[in-house]
Formats: sequence, structure tokens, C-alpha cells
Amino acid sequence: MLPAMGDNVVVSNMELEKLLSMKGGRGEASYVNNSQAQAMHAKSMLHLLKETLDRVEVDASREMPFVVVDLGCSCGINTINVVDVMIKHITKRYEGLGLDPPEFTAFFSDLPSNDFNTLFQLLPPMPNYGVSMEECLAAKNHRSYFAAGVPGSFYRRLFPARSINVFHSAFSLHWLSQVPEAVTEKRSSAYNKGRVFIHGANEITAIAYKKQFQSDLAAFLRSRSVEMKRGGSMFLVCLGRTSVDPTDQGGAGLLFGTHFQDAWDDLVLQGLISSEKRDSFNIPVYAPSLQDFKEVVEGDGSFAIHKLEVFKGGSPLVVDQPDNASQVGKALANTCRSVSGVLVDAHIGEDLSHELFLRVEHRATCHGKDLLEQLQFYHIVASLSFLQS
Ligand code: SAH
Repeated sequence: MLPAMGDNVVVSNMELEKLLSMKGGRGEASYVNNSQAQAMHAKSMLHLLKETLDRVEVDASREMPFVVVDLGCSCGINTINVVDVMIKHITKRYEGLGLDPPEFTAFFSDLPSNDFNTLFQLLPPMPNYGVSMEECLAAKNHRSYFAAGVPGSFYRRLFPARSINVFHSAFSLHWLSQVPEAVTEKRSSAYNKGRVFIHGANEITAIAYKKQFQSDLAAFLRSRSVEMKRGGSMFLVCLGRTSVDPTDQGGAGLLFGTHFQDAWDDLVLQGLISSEKRDSFNIPVYAPSLQDFKEVVEGDGSFAIHKLEVFKGGSPLVVDQPDNASQVGKALANTCRSVSGVLVDAHIGEDLSHELFLRVEHRATCHGKDLLEQLQFYHIVASLSFLQS
């Protein structure tokens, strides 16, 4: 039997940072099992990450540990791989200078509802006490750094002042701290009537999102500029778009503005939810243009820009049979669910959420052929160095 009309409490903006997470655990729609595309996109940008790491000042005295942070780490293997790359690269730099490497600390940071347990279980073991850092670095499948999880929003302070050498963040900064209030207020001209995302929405709604993105990014940079050590660097990657028009959200627009949108409309047409229920749901994501991003970094003024560009990432869908439309449909539904499922569950309950994603899958399967080609992600890539104040 189909569930009754959803009457769950609307998730207020205040709650977003308590609630938001990618889907935890190791199930079919979990982030762990739906983040291979991010892994591939990250791999294609490794040379840019390494260029950023080449700019970090290394401390010959080695009195303090070298500290790296992954912000918006989620619970998959991607964060562990990227931390491994960063530590190996910095180790090589020390060796190149004829110095022994220092001790390393890696902080894995995300919102409090992130599945840190799954992440910690994926961490390779630390060798026994007494094994030197050199032996540890040489050993395979071991970790050569001390690890800790840090819960909290990256739009606020997370670390003590002047304590971090490298900040890394991949595929996270397009998540807003909240849906702008005007977008959910019925009487506001920015009310997002009929839609669950800004792709194809009215311009006033999209501009409210843009403002939210820019004030969030400004708060992010302010916090990092306090936490960063002298000579530190930052490597940031987030979803981006090539169009100047914010109502054209590119790949993110296709992910949340087509089959996902249509599936919400199906629930309304089939009487499973009211149109107000749909209209009060909004995906808190904004894919910025290069200009949107650049204005904020320049306005902040604490970081020198070494690289700031739009980089073609590719498709978020990983399938072994591209001609198999039902596999493509399933991949789209799982991708969508792994990143937005927690928010949808909170808004309409798990049963209706299940119905919604069945419809996403069905609709995506009907368009399986075009989807793989059309759904392409672009990313903003920023390599920044901290300017001493
Ligand atoms: N970096 C990982 C995961 C990206 S998924 C990878 O490359 O695979 C995006 C992550 O950003 C999610 O885990 C989400 O919880 C996190 N995130 C979103 N908003 C955040 C915020 N305000 N503060 C910290 N993390 C946030």
C-alpha cells in the first residue's frame, strides 16, 4: 500500500547543518558505493593538487607535526586516498631537501551527522609503537599519519589559530549552509514555486542562491585565514558551471532539475504529496561560475590565487554497460539518492522518499541513452596560498 500524504515537519534552515550528510553505511545507495565518479574526477586533478603542495612552505626544524585537513571528507575511500597522496608528496619534498620527514597529522572533517564510523573503519592501520616514520612510510597498506575526525561546519572555525599547513576540500563547497530564507517564504518574489532546485527557476530565486553561496564562501575563507599557518596552501574543488546565468546550473542542473524534478511532480500529480510540500523542498546546492567564485576570493584578500579555473570533470554516472538504459537509470537514481536522500527522507519520510527515487529511476531509464552523454560535471578548481598579514 502506498504511504499517506506526507506531513513531516519541514526541515528548517537551522537544522540543515545538523542533518545534512551523504548516505552512510555500505548499502546500494550509500556514498561509499556511489563515489567512484568523484574518485575519477579527483584523479584527473592530482597534478594540480601536487602543484599546490609544491608551494607549501616546509619547516626544516620539524619541531611541529605537519598538519593536513580534508574538509567535507564524507565517509568514502576518496578522502583516505587524497590524504595519502598529500602526505607522500610532502614526504618526498622533505627528502628532496635532504631532510627526514616530520610527523604528520590528518584531520577528517565533516558535518556531525557524517558517518565517521564507516570512515574510521576504512582507515589503514597505524603500525605498532616503535616503528619509525621512515619504516611506516615504506610499508604498504599502513598509515603514516595520526588521524582524527573533526565534526562541524566549514563555514565556521574548526581549528586553533595558525595550526594548519594544508587545507583540501573536494566536491563539498557547492553545498550551501542553508536554503536562502526568501526562497522558502511564500510571499517572497524569490519563492521557488513549482521547483525543487534553481535550474530553470526564476532569476530572483537563483540570485538569492548566488548571494548565499558568496556569503558562505566568504565565511569559509575568513575562518581558514585564521587557522592557516604561515606559508600554508589550500586546494579547493567544487561543482561549477560554464554559463554566466545562474539559472543554468549545468551538470548539477541536470541532476536535480530534470528527472528528479519530474519525480517530485509525479508525487504531486498522483496525490501523494501536496504542491506546497514539494515547493517547500529545495536542494541547497549552488554551482558557481568562475566569476562568482573569484569575486569572493579577491574580496577576502587573504589568499593569493595561483590557479582558478573551470575544469571538465565528466559524467557522475559510472556504469559498466553504457548501452543498458536500466543500468544508467539506476545509476542516476543511486547517485541522486546518495547525496540528497537524507534530506528527502527528512522532508517526506522514508516511504515516500522510496517512491520518489523509484520514479527518478523510471524516468532516467527512459532517457538512459541521452543521459550518459548530456550529464557532464564541471568543477571550479582553486589553488590558493595564504598571504601573511
Ligand atoms: N570530499 C569527498 C566527499 C564529497 S561529498 C569526496 O571527494 O568524495 C560532500 C561532503 O561535504 C558531504 O560529506 C557533506 O556532508 C559535506 N558538507 C556539506 N556542507 C558542509 C559544511 N557546511 N561543513 C562541512 N562539511 C559539509
